[in-house]
Amino acid sequence: VKKFYLTTPLYYVNAKPHIGHAYTTIAADALARFKRLMGYKVFFLTGTDEHGQKVQKASEAEGLSPKDFTDKLSQTFRDLWQKLNIEYDDFIRTTEVRHVKAVQYFWKELNRKKLIYRKKYEGWYCTPCEAFWTERETAGEKKCPQCKRALEKISEENYFFAISQFQDWLIEHIRKHPQFIMPETRRNETFAFLEKNKLVDLCISRPRARLAWGVDCPLSPDHVTYVWFDALINYVSACGFREPRSKFSEFWPCDVHLIGKDILRPHTVYWPIMLHAMDIEIPQRVFAHGWWMQDKTKMSKSLGNIVNPLEVIKEFGEDAFRYFLLREVPFGKDGTYSDVAMTTRFNTDLANDLGNLCHRTLHMMEKYFECKLAANTAAKAENVLKKEAQMLAQNMERHLDLLQFNDALIQIWSYINEANKFIEDQAPWKLAKENSEKLPEVMGSLCEALRVIAQGVWPFMPGTALKIWKKLGLDARPILNDSFDKVKWNYFKEGTVTEKGDPLFPRRK
Ligand SMILES: [Zn+2]
Repeated sequence: VKKFYLTTPLYYVNAKPHIGHAYTTIAADALARFKRLMGYKVFFLTGTDEHGQKVQKASEAEGLSPKDFTDKLSQTFRDLWQKLNIEYDDFIRTTEVRHVKAVQYFWKELNRKKLIYRKKYEGWYCTPCEAFWTERETAGEKKCPQCKRALEKISEENYFFAISQFQDWLIEHIRKHPQFIMPETRRNETFAFLEKNKLVDLCISRPRARLAWGVDCPLSPDHVTYVWFDALINYVSACGFREPRSKFSEFWPCDVHLIGKDILRPHTVYWPIMLHAMDIEIPQRVFAHGWWMQDKTKMSKSLGNIVNPLEVIKEFGEDAFRYFLLREVPFGKDGTYSDVAMTTRFNTDLANDLGNLCHRTLHMMEKYFECKLAANTAAKAENVLKKEAQMLAQNMERHLDLLQFNDALIQIWSYINEANKFIEDQAPWKLAKENSEKLPEVMGSLCEALRVIAQGVWPFMPGTALKIWKKLGLDARPILNDSFDKVKWNYFKEGTVTEKGDPLFPRRK
């Protein structure tokens, strides 16, 4: 059995989930569902990143202990994933014992390999970003190059991970594996960074006196682990790294880490180096997607223009929201969210194209055959719907292997439009009038096409796929267990009863 391991980043729990978190997770869920449809054994991991100064401060502001605060926030992420129909295989929290053990093993092992050293450090520190900056990086401004807030001068002893010696190896790896970092703009970004800058050894500890909320450093009672160093390790700790008979041997290396473009460097520079230094194979691919804006501004908490996924779901439904995010912009580019754009997609793609196809077909089934589909009605059909149904999975796979979600959806919609055109061309109402024996074959073919369309739609809009199968009088389970690339035609059994029911997507004003 082919395996597929994919992850979202672990979401930092200093605030509630927003559209950016939803975007990565929906994309991961669609990819996981598609791979399962294609017969892969899938491990889909998500979770929450819970240590560090920002969490400590946010919990103090709410008058909660960091533990109680992270319990509460972590649950808001799980609740949203449930509302969005996200089927992850594991949800890891960096405060779990299995994770802490793995982090401490990294410490000990890198120390044994003499890749960790202790040094007095003086530098400029930005608390909100939890980042140290060199004199050169601040350009004498005493302001954070990232967030432009004032920096603090800090002098303390810390542990450093000697990453600089792996720079040439990493450059070579990226050069040899053009699909390791995607899309190409992000690959070029990491490449340019590595070519232009000498890597500075990574400070991987924080003094406990300043920050207590972190993974204990096994080398010193006075230090805890830097939150980024801790968080990245989740990708191996969650699949049972170093545990007997675990998923690790089955699923590692990871096939794709899905991330937002703002966390490109930790994932394409620090993480591969951490793994390589540990003699662990590095992931196949890191894919960084773009940002969602509203009115041309990046959504951020400080700007107060965050789209709340819960409100969009309430207004349009979770499937329409999932569809919109993956259809509206190519994965990797920035997008703009607006209710107007959302309504347009809803009315044209969902209500008109897909909804009408389903409704018209089932209405005619009712009118001409009292909803009963005779067996073998489509057996002898040699038409465009049958021919293209057999291509659909492969066409989608070609795009989804490159994480081109919008192009995969365009493939399904071109098939949907083919089916709508088929109705016009065949004109079942004329065939009915003429009492033509072609009518059962035409209607059977449309029902087969709808069943296949639901299979294609399933990764993106699972609730809608289930509704279509139900309307067709079919049980979803055997369909989902069948490999999508071996589409059967003539699937319906004698006595199948269809049901028109309510429209899938009632048009919106
Ligand atoms: Zn900053």
